[in-house]
Amino acid sequence: MKYILLLFISYYYLSANAHVFVYHRFGDTKHSSTNTTLKELKKEFDYFKKNNYKVVKLSQIVEKIKQNKSVPDNWVALTIDDSYKSFYKNGLPLFKEYNYPFSLYVYVKATQKGYGDFMTWDEIKDASKYGEIGLHSYSHPHLTQISLENVRKDTKKSFEIFEEKLGFKPKSYAYPYGEYNEKVKKVIKSFNFKYILNQNTGTITKKTDVYDINRIALVGKVNLEQKLKYKTLDAQWIEPKEYPQNGILKKVKAKVSPKIKQIKLYITGYGWQDIKVNNGIIDVNLNLKLKKSRSRVILSTDYFTIANKIIIQDKK
Ligand SMILES: [Zn+2]
Repeated sequence: MKYILLLFISYYYLSANAHVFVYHRFGDTKHSSTNTTLKELKKEFDYFKKNNYKVVKLSQIVEKIKQNKSVPDNWVALTIDDSYKSFYKNGLPLFKEYNYPFSLYVYVKATQKGYGDFMTWDEIKDASKYGEIGLHSYSHPHLTQISLENVRKDTKKSFEIFEEKLGFKPKSYAYPYGEYNEKVKKVIKSFNFKYILNQNTGTITKKTDVYDINRIALVGKVNLEQKLKYKTLDAQWIEPKEYPQNGILKKVKAKVSPKIKQIKLYITGYGWQDIKVNNGIIDVNLNLKLKKSRSRVILSTDYFTIANKIIIQDKK
């Protein structure tokens, strides 16, 4: 009986999930916390190849969602934040060798001012022959910590310089540090990007909001097989929507499939706990003082099928 139930449950979750990954630096051992060695990158690329994963342009995945078609399970998109020089020097040759497309997110001020560690406009232009180029802000601010007017100004400035230097408009935006909230999202959206990327661990399905695309970070040595196990838990968040004003997380409320009877809840600083689900409703009273100004609330049936919410204290 238990076995049949398990089968039934796993069938229920059998919706297609594409994975989007984010890299930063390549072959740059001076910055190990954001680096992927070339040996590791090659290992990951070989893994994709051997296991029949198809590395596609992120815009291809977004196109599927916009057409309301399911996203193939074996599709993977690779993104790179900050446009570091080490991508151009070390990473790009390998992407070219494997013929893997990518999306590169430009930190405009660093390139514009010629910071040594970052790609030049000419290098970005050259990279655009092999991948897609998007925007990663002008000054790389914590967008939730500055006024909405300054969010707008930063985006406008970076958008204009990007277009002037590269000769085309950026079609997508990746939040610096993956930090955002509903108000920030609204401002960024008003620039008519086709899609926006966060940095919440999770996957892309037919139902994904293209203005809130999850990305899984790949830094250092990673267990790719595990990262590829992530799936989206179909959950409708009711509470919390934002960081609570007094820092007290009163409750977590969400709607999931009524077939789920029990779920795991994670809160930054508090770890995982088991929660009972009644008729598809998760409604837990917590009254927890959040320990971090940047906290995650995650729901999962098995640590891999997840719904992930980031809430950030507004210092304005
Ligand atoms: Zn960044």
